[in-house]
Amino acid sequence: MVLIQVVCVVLILWGLMIVSVKAQDQKSGERPSVSSETIQSMSRIDIQNALKKIDSNNPPPPKMGAMCYEPGAVYKHKEYVCPLDGEKTMYATESKAFNTAISAPEIRSLVKELGSLVKGISFSLDEKKLCAKCFPNIVDADRKIALIVQYSDGRTVRTEGVTAQDIRYLIGFFQDGLSYKTNNDGQEPLKEVEPRLKVLLGEN
Ligand SMILES: [Zn+2]
Repeated sequence: MVLIQVVCVVLILWGLMIVSVKAQDQKSGERPSVSSETIQSMSRIDIQNALKKIDSNNPPPPKMGAMCYEPGAVYKHKEYVCPLDGEKTMYATESKAFNTAISAPEIRSLVKELGSLVKGISFSLDEKKLCAKCFPNIVDADRKIALIVQYSDGRTVRTEGVTAQDIRYLIGFFQDGLSYKTNNDGQEPLKEVEPRLKVLLGEN
């Protein structure tokens, strides 16, 4: 009789052990380690914490970019085509907006890349000031591209006069968080451009 009771107790304990091991398995299954989902969705607190990491972590060592590359096309003037209405605006080399007009397609494609990196934040460009039809009466120096950052909490940050380099800072921030790629495939620490990064993110 005693033997039967002991066997019963052992069986019950064994059963309980199996149940608890199964429960633990389920728990760890619910918590994926670092998925792309958790990296991509960022709240304001996440942004602020990521900015703090730039100061506290050692950046990866800088890499020199390619020194020699094919000479690009030499323009006397640049025809800018407005993506909204197709209007063509001519920029001469002397124009203060000449370089912006040239880099507009690159900025667009970098913003597209940036948008695919982050969930919960939308990035868009306002190029209207580069178009003589959208903005006929502004001075040359005001013809700039603006970046608009819209957060899921409803905040909108607008920065006038963004460059391709600015968007590279943001891509670096949302990729490794410590460095960014230069236009010739080099790598530089974000620490050096942190004030600008904060302006772009609306955290200055
Ligand atoms: Zn236009």
